[in-house]
Amino acid sequence: MPTIKRIDHIAIVVDDIPSALTFWRDALGLELAHVEDVPDQESIVAFLPTGESEIELVKPTTDTSGVAKFLQKRGAGMHHICLEVDDIDAMLAHLKEKGVQLIHETAIHGSGGKKIAFIHPKSTSGVLVELYELPTPAP
Ligand code: ZN
Repeated sequence: MPTIKRIDHIAIVVDDIPSALTFWRDALGLELAHVEDVPDQESIVAFLPTGESEIELVKPTTDTSGVAKFLQKRGAGMHHICLEVDDIDAMLAHLKEKGVQLIHETAIHGSGGKKIAFIHPKSTSGVLVELYELPTPAP
């Protein structure tokens, strides 16, 4: 049975990273680890570690991506939570068997060898859920 290990990150869509940082960094006191342009996701992402997990502030850089449409439709807010799983392929097969609606029926490859997949909010009480498997470290 595949196992969820922890919350990897919570992604929040923002229309402006510097103004979002006035709360998340300046008021709350989180450290801004780095800001990264992620052309694949048509976004700029600010990473703020919180122990074993991270807050990601995501600002779309185009008008057409999923996050851009989310922002246009609903305004800034929580976009998804990401759970780290030890075996994403086994978990997707398991969820499919349980009748869970998946956005990705098989894992797609993210940056740095990660495998990721999204679960449809219809099956999760309205929250977009990302699953994430880290590459196994070389022996
Ligand atoms: Zn994510």
